[in-house]
Amino acid sequence: MIEEIYKADGNRYDAGMEYRRSGRSGILLPELSLGFWHNFGETAPLERSKDIMRHAFDHGITSFDLANNYGPGYGTAEETFGFVFDKSFRPYRDEMFVASKAGYDMWPGPYGNWGSRKYLMASINQSLKRTKLDYFDVFYSHRYDPETPLEETLQALVDIVRMGKALYIGISRWPVEATKFAFEYLRRHDAPCLIFQDRLNLIDRRVETDGTLQCVKENGCGFIGFSPLAQGILTNRYLHGIPSDSRAMQQRFLKTSQISDDLVSNISQLNAIAERRGQSLAQMSLSWVLAHPGVTSVIIGCSSVAQLDDSLQAVKSKDFTAEELNEIETIASRIKL
Ligand code: NDP
Repeated sequence: MIEEIYKADGNRYDAGMEYRRSGRSGILLPELSLGFWHNFGETAPLERSKDIMRHAFDHGITSFDLANNYGPGYGTAEETFGFVFDKSFRPYRDEMFVASKAGYDMWPGPYGNWGSRKYLMASINQSLKRTKLDYFDVFYSHRYDPETPLEETLQALVDIVRMGKALYIGISRWPVEATKFAFEYLRRHDAPCLIFQDRLNLIDRRVETDGTLQCVKENGCGFIGFSPLAQGILTNRYLHGIPSDSRAMQQRFLKTSQISDDLVSNISQLNAIAERRGQSLAQMSLSWVLAHPGVTSVIIGCSSVAQLDDSLQAVKSKDFTAEELNEIETIASRIKL
């Protein structure tokens, strides 16, 4: 079959998406970024992945978040991205901001995990091949490695930038003290950290309380939040049972045992607030993160174009009354996963 030529929507930058500066850098990121952790691996329909990517770009999403091990089937989300990029997006490369990461288990043996120079260098080469890109816009250390000297990991990231394999450096889920060290090291080596990635949603506000957000802001770094919908819990997905095609049914990172009656009761109460605001619960959950001081962008996951369409509307209602915020906080603080 001959693939139709993709022509991006001419109004893509007028669809309501705002672009926020990442810390004290020259980079502007869309409020919503598209994540590839789930739903783009070898088990996902390629046609659907292509439709989601195109729909995202057509609505102003220029930022795409990958990692070496995203799938399922390690590497297969990057392969899907590469396939669609090659067919649809090549003419738009300079309008795209593509991230990848290394830090978790990727291949067997002592060199396929954590934070050694050997692993990071090999991994970015593999990721570039799979994605069919010449360079990443940002390359992350995906997690803190307590065994490898921080200088080794950080110098590998600096060298990756020097070699032109990535334009900027990012850090994900590092503890605060190590993050401070990283910011200082990277600044001294003229490759300042562009962005810090961690979880932030209505029911997980750790980055607020452990000093992460504060540290990121003080160091002129951006913050990009992941799992804004708590993997689908903060949506209408589980209000009336557990759908057979839902993430919880995969029993991997979200389990059906977590969808308790108590949880559903609290989610229903959040849903009632969202309805009062004229939003879906997914939209309200995303708007809440976007309204958070210090957030540059929020990475959404989705398993259909319809979900993406729903989530895209979140950028339109980011104002909350003090009363709404109090009510949301009271309910959300009762939720324990
Ligand atoms: P979310 O919290 O946004 O959860 C996504 C899931 O929520 C979807 O798969 C879908 O569930 C459901 N959903 C999405 N939109 C809607 C909607 N409008 N209505 C109803 N349900 C909806 O994000 P993720 O947990 O997927 O994380 C987002 C991204 O963040 C990842 O893809 C990855 O790029 C990044 N990330 C980074 C990590 C890191 O360590 N740095 C860790 C985790 C994520 P269903 O599939 O059931 O339909």
